[in-house]
Amino acid sequence: MRTLILSDVHANRSAFEAVLKAAGEVDQVWFLGDVVGYGPDPNECIELLRAQPNLQALMGNHDAALMDYISIERFNYEAAEAIRVQSSMIVPESRDFLELLRLKIEIDDLTLVHGSPRNPIWEYILSSRTAKANFDDFLTQGCLIGHTHVPSIFILNESGNVQTLLPENGDRWKPSGRFILNPGSVGQPRNYDPRAAFVIWDDEEDTFLFRRVSYDIEAVTQRIMKSGIPKRQATRLWIGT
Ligand code: ZN
Repeated sequence: MRTLILSDVHANRSAFEAVLKAAGEVDQVWFLGDVVGYGPDPNECIELLRAQPNLQALMGNHDAALMDYISIERFNYEAAEAIRVQSSMIVPESRDFLELLRLKIEIDDLTLVHGSPRNPIWEYILSSRTAKANFDDFLTQGCLIGHTHVPSIFILNESGNVQTLLPENGDRWKPSGRFILNPGSVGQPRNYDPRAAFVIWDDEEDTFLFRRVSYDIEAVTQRIMKSGIPKRQATRLWIGT
């Protein structure tokens, strides 16, 4: 069975469509949070997401902010401004979908959270040290996370140390012990590679394939400029920050 694992779409329809096309036919889709925030297409991205086969979907911090579950005061000015603009765009059907998003899902031998197992909404796992502190907070072999926008794997060794891998496009990884894995971001890649990121999990081979795909950044830029969302949300897409 092929599972498409994706995160942090951030209302970028062009990137999302490119990922779906590159992923090809899949049996199920697991989404790790933040379908909204930053970009110009919140309703279109929610519509695309809800149409995916056997969908499991999490709530991210931007989704929670748009629903007023958390305060936008915790966001920087430009991120908060994007949420304000999107609040005026969002249709009732989109709100209904966001309301159903979950904070944590356990499926097969995997736990799915947006930020971290111990703090699903806010914590960023960017280092071996933070990853290590989280292995006691989930019971499954692996944990899938989003939130940092950086494709990464944190592997717990038998000695109790955590090794960090930063996979590139085309890298295929097979787990042997416990791990935390981040597929990277569809709609706002941040590790100086502007291509949209995603992962395909093949559960028969038990391999995770990391992929990057180019998309039409110019088209998203133009929609951001028209929407009233701060220009910085467009310029950062070109460099991947
Ligand atoms: Zn995000």
